Amino acid sequence: MSEQSLTLAGRRALVTGAGRGIGRSTALALAAAGADVALSARSRAELEQVAAAISALGRRAVVLPCDVTDAQQVAGLVDAVVGGLGGVDVLVNNAGAAASHKFLDHPDALWHHMLAINLTSVYYVTKAFAPLMVAQRWGRIITIASIAAKTGARYIAAYAASKHGVLGLTRALALELVSYNITVNAICPGYVDTPMTDANITAIAERTSLSEAQARETLAKLSPQQRLIAPEEVAAMAVYLAQEISGGITGQAINVDGGTVMY
Ligand code: NDP
Repeated sequence: MSEQSLTLAGRRALVTGAGRGIGRSTALALAAAGADVALSARSRAELEQVAAAISALGRRAVVLPCDVTDAQQVAGLVDAVVGGLGGVDVLVNNAGAAASHKFLDHPDALWHHMLAINLTSVYYVTKAFAPLMVAQRWGRIITIASIAAKTGARYIAAYAASKHGVLGLTRALALELVSYNITVNAICPGYVDTPMTDANITAIAERTSLSEAQARETLAKLSPQQRLIAPEEVAAMAVYLAQEISGGITGQAINVDGGTVMY
């Protein structure tokens, strides 16, 4: 194999949940590596800000609001992405949500919501966009899972179940799509410094005697590195998995967690 430069020039990417947090950083990092990017989430205003930053990098960005828990909206997203970018080479399933509750009085609605936003949405979006990759015999499907896809923790039964499910989907699809030159991988972050974690910290402070600063420190200390992961660190792994050179990596679930989980 000849030397290959790390570039995404000429690639077209779709990032779900691209308005803030990990999705925003990933969209910007893909664009910085040379890709044009379709940005999706429910809030148009946040997506417009990310699009402006991508345009400033000299790449094309299209803003396509969509609720990924709604199969019909996702079906419409395919035409919109094809219309905006001409197709898709890289799909980053990032949209997700986290909520915690004790299991013994767990609301059924919360269970269904966690599975809808973290697992069924990945099924809808991947099912909608995989045919484009199959037709062109090239694709990269990257899902932002969590270390909660590999291990449990108290009060996150629904979130952990949804993220474990995402790994099952990733591993099965990696084999099913292997003959089309499509790789399917998951990234498993520990706690990342995003608005989701800010909300988590606020919730901990409300439910316990901890201040928000103490709650943040508690989450940071769950990592051997005693810190939160920066969203850019997760984004960099997504950019790597999107590259041509990463073609030998499929069906994997790669931790970006400071050594919290070692399998
Ligand atoms: P944020 O809450 O900061 O951002 C979530 C993004 O997803 C937003 O752009 C939001 O936009 C979008 N989104 C939420 N619901 C929907 C929906 N129904 N349809 C379309 N878009 C939606 O989250 P993070 O950046 O922290 O997390 C991103 C991913 O990383 C998630 O899958 C999360 O589970 C995972 N993760 C996060 C960790 C963390 O510590 N933060 C750790 C491990 C994994 P809008 O509300 O406008 O739709």
